[in-house]
Amino acid sequence: MNPKASPGHALSIIPREQHTISRKNISKAALRVLYRLNEAGYDAYLVGGAVRDLLLGGHPKDFDVATNATPDEVKKLFRNCRLIGRRFRLAHVVYGNEIIEVATFRGTSDEEGDRHVVDGRIVRDNVWGSIEEDALRRDFRVNAMYYDISDFSVRDYVGGMQDLHNRVLHLIGDPATRYREDPVRMLRAARLAAKLNFRIDPKAAAPFAELGPLLSGVAPARLFDESLKLFLTGHGLKSFQMLEGCGLLKFMFPATARAIRRGDRALCMLIEQGLENTDARISEGKSVTPAFLFAVLLWGEVRDLAHTWMSHGKDGNDAWSRAAAHVVSEQCQRVAIPRRFTIAMEEIWALQPRFEQIQRKKVFRLLAHPRFRAAFDFLLLRGAESQAMEELGRWWAHAQQLPHETLAAALPAQHVGGDVDTGVPAPARKRRRRRKPAGKSGAS
Ligand code: ATP
Ligand code: MG
Repeated sequence: MNPKASPGHALSIIPREQHTISRKNISKAALRVLYRLNEAGYDAYLVGGAVRDLLLGGHPKDFDVATNATPDEVKKLFRNCRLIGRRFRLAHVVYGNEIIEVATFRGTSDEEGDRHVVDGRIVRDNVWGSIEEDALRRDFRVNAMYYDISDFSVRDYVGGMQDLHNRVLHLIGDPATRYREDPVRMLRAARLAAKLNFRIDPKAAAPFAELGPLLSGVAPARLFDESLKLFLTGHGLKSFQMLEGCGLLKFMFPATARAIRRGDRALCMLIEQGLENTDARISEGKSVTPAFLFAVLLWGEVRDLAHTWMSHGKDGNDAWSRAAAHVVSEQCQRVAIPRRFTIAMEEIWALQPRFEQIQRKKVFRLLAHPRFRAAFDFLLLRGAESQAMEELGRWWAHAQQLPHETLAAALPAQHVGGDVDTGVPAPARKRRRRRKPAGKSGAS
């Protein structure tokens, strides 16, 4: 992209006394990197999401640094530094469990150096440039502000401050060109709008329908990383609603989008409740696992497929395990969910029918299953499906409270399919009534 094709904003330098970024909110590691680069005679800036979040009064989860030092020059300055990435060469400076990403200013020339563009897509970007050029190849204006460690001012090349003030995301340059260069920018628009509670500028949202299919050309491993940022950083429900509203969900989670399109209200409630519970766990500092989240997102398709196959005469266990394998394999072509998580997802699904088997040995075996907790949380979400499911969830919640002997005495040695006296009504089996689940569950 030619710098002259920029939106025509003049550089604005906001001095220390006119902005709210204070060094006490910047990590020690990031400050050390900035100072060391600066003392060695290089330009050193905090950049991107950290500057944006600090200006909004938030606490950035990672700090990125931009500099005119090349990766090799950065490496010479820091013992605790490793160079990573071929597509986008970077230096990682490591302090304990904190990694500061140090990127050399990128240039904008398509012709020179180590920059490769295939069908408009940037597949390699290692051309060094000036800070002005670096600002223009960033995605949104609010992400292109630089905090200068030499005088503590903020440099705004593209009108990011104004966008922060108006709570809007403008893409830098021509939206269609920028999405073709990197389709993940569409997901970033939805994610940042959800995270920051910003609007997406209509010009930035307009190409989603036409260019969304380009997401199928993105490496599935990168989409997995992006899906964690969308759903497991505390604003999963809003990200989901934003992706769905922008028409992007179907390019990332086709099975989820299909199940929702079938108009299954209970399934939407189950997904929304699952995401809400996950967000709540994150805000309480509890652990969350991607397996539970993906199990929630793909449940509708697995369940419907298993039911279809059973109605065609397939045996129950076989139908469930094949449905799970089929849905997981389709999903992994888009989003590379690591094997350890797909195994856990398949277990969570496979345990669901076992909750209906109220018989002494089976109940105790299920309670002792290593995946019981996640499967039980999942069962609670399924209270959205029917009143019978809600009652089943209550029954298992109560059963876990009872001393071993009391529960054993209350349970039949054989399955009797009805009244088990644990002090709560036995799980109902046939009645179906859909309503919002009352209980809280979550990813464990
Ligand atoms: P968060 O950290 O909240 O997820 P972020 O904006 O910091 O949001 P990062 O992935 O940490 O996201 O990226 C840091 C910065 O790098 C961004 O603010 C932006 O300036 C730039 N950037 C990241 N991804 C892209 C992209 N696909 N295209 C252009 N610039 C990008
Ligand atoms: Mg960041």
